[in-house]
Amino acid sequence: MPNEYDVIVVGAGHAGCEAALAAARMGCRTALLTMNPDTVALMSCNPAIGGLAKGQIVREIDALGGEMGKATDETAIQYRLLNRSKGPAVQSPRAQCDRKLYAASMKRRVSECPGLTLVAETVDALIAEDGRIRGVVGASGREYRAKAVVLTTGTFLKGLIHVGSEKSVGGRIGEPSAERLSDSLRRLGFVVERLKTGTPPRIDGRTVDFTKCAEQPGDAEPCFFSFATTRLALPQRVCWITHTNERVHEIIRRNIDRAPLYTGQITAVGPRYCPSVETKVMRFPEKTSHLIFLEPEGLDTEELYLNGLATSIPADVQEEMLHGIAGLERVRVARYGYAIEYDYVPPTQLFATLETKLVRGLFHAGQINGTSGYEEAAGQGLVAGINAARSVRGDEPIVLRRHEAYIGVLIDDLVTKGTEEPYRMFTGRAEHRLLLRSDNADRRLTPIGRASGLVDDGSWSRFEEKRARIGELAEWVGRIRRNGKSLDELLRTPGVTLASLIAETEELRALAPEREIVEAVEIESKYRGYISRQMREVERLRESEDRRIPAEIDYETIPQLRREAREKLSRIRPSTLGQAARISGIGPAEISVLRIYLQGRRRQASDAHEAK
Ligand code: FAD
Repeated sequence: MPNEYDVIVVGAGHAGCEAALAAARMGCRTALLTMNPDTVALMSCNPAIGGLAKGQIVREIDALGGEMGKATDETAIQYRLLNRSKGPAVQSPRAQCDRKLYAASMKRRVSECPGLTLVAETVDALIAEDGRIRGVVGASGREYRAKAVVLTTGTFLKGLIHVGSEKSVGGRIGEPSAERLSDSLRRLGFVVERLKTGTPPRIDGRTVDFTKCAEQPGDAEPCFFSFATTRLALPQRVCWITHTNERVHEIIRRNIDRAPLYTGQITAVGPRYCPSVETKVMRFPEKTSHLIFLEPEGLDTEELYLNGLATSIPADVQEEMLHGIAGLERVRVARYGYAIEYDYVPPTQLFATLETKLVRGLFHAGQINGTSGYEEAAGQGLVAGINAARSVRGDEPIVLRRHEAYIGVLIDDLVTKGTEEPYRMFTGRAEHRLLLRSDNADRRLTPIGRASGLVDDGSWSRFEEKRARIGELAEWVGRIRRNGKSLDELLRTPGVTLASLIAETEELRALAPEREIVEAVEIESKYRGYISRQMREVERLRESEDRRIPAEIDYETIPQLRREAREKLSRIRPSTLGQAARISGIGPAEISVLRIYLQGRRRQASDAHEAK
């Protein structure tokens, strides 16, 4: 049966690659069906990985045994740790990558993975019987059967591209869209809606006057994404900074009646935190200038990406606008900016495992769930791939908790609250962000990755050794005393660093701890009070987070619940009392009704058991 698999993943973008690699490594016969095998893991927008909160997600993916961090380190051409001067909870690594090399690196990982087959196929429809997925049908007319299917179709479902008044069908510039799959989802009963995103123009770097731009070098000591990386793989490049100005804003205002976002041509909602330049100019008229980063697209290309200048105004206005910016007066445009509208499937139709509520064995991950960003997509892809494989094996699914991972926060937000605009992660979305640092992602998640079968022996023993070395250094720091105080206490004095204490202390020097070991111990000491407070908060919530709500509960039979609460609980079907409490409009009164109801059910079940 050549077209029969355990798991089928549809779409080889950032979510799809992680999902397929995870499922195959967990022993499932996996097919990765994608429109064009030459665009595996292509970055649709900026060739940069990480950034605020997103950097933490990539470290989490790596800690769990995913690939994004390794591919980033293999192809990074500039590293920067963002928020370096702020606290460790909000520091996030970011890397500019070589776009072509990144895609090639991920394609190599996919191609070399045993048990994983990459197939060129556009999926047109799903096959479901009795509420269970059975497979998919390709545009070639071929059927592919599987026990689980993961959909990761990005911006391709009925994608519609806009540049000024010109509209064209496509999933990304120069690529076709997937016109049929969302109709198949609708026929199965799913609600499908529209979102929008946009990208800036790319320019020819040889036509830029860099003397008018400020240079932005990378960090001398890079913060890598993978816990396994020890050194730089590629030569590093600088980025540049310039600004828009009043003249440019005037050009935009003068042509706003030709901007599809303002003519009513685009109706879908775009990313609030990554607005187009025309939106910035119209929404913040008091601002006379906006930052633009000129970022290299790769080592063997002169193309530069203009971060901060997403736009879908007509091509001639894009040119005029660019020529009004310092350093870009004579610039040649390599590709124009554009906006794209696409179908997504509102994620409240999913369980926290990313399995759909309507069709068992069908999982959704990435931009199809209303998110924006490679990292958010990859994090979901990894979880969906793990859970698809576990469902095939008959194992309990994995759900990352909000205090365990940003990926847990992301998925919980999506499935509990949904999203009406492209969702991107921020540190502010995590209530326990001091626990969710990028330095401790491995200590939070590598044991979970190991238990899932995704962390190999080499990585596991490296992790165990690191954990032991952190424990050893922390013990010495707690034990050694100076002037009546332990080093641990001294570390809480502002300005005192562990590196300086090590330099002055023979026993610690003898341990020769690496930078990441020192950093881990220092953060845990300096922030112990805050970390303990957050841990106590997690403990306080643990009872509700652990209290499971059986999926089959009929909320209509609980008359003590208000009608609105019954409707919301029936729609979201939360898996724990904690998740129920996060549904908007569900307050403490409903939670105590539910708690009492669950206690009653448990009592009845145990009485029935004893009576037998
Ligand atoms: P994608 O990377 O889109 O991959 C989807 C894959 O599925 C593709 O390989 C496609 O060929 C395949 N596919 C789709 N349908 C089918 C089908 N029916 N059958 C077979 N294969 C199929 N993110 C940001 O964070 N910031 C930004 O500013 C930003 N701007 C963007 C601008 C544009 C114009 C676009 C297109 C995207 C932008 N993004 C941005 C989003 C970012 O690119 C996505 O969030 C990310 O790529 C989503 O990953 P994904 O794996 O879900 O989907």
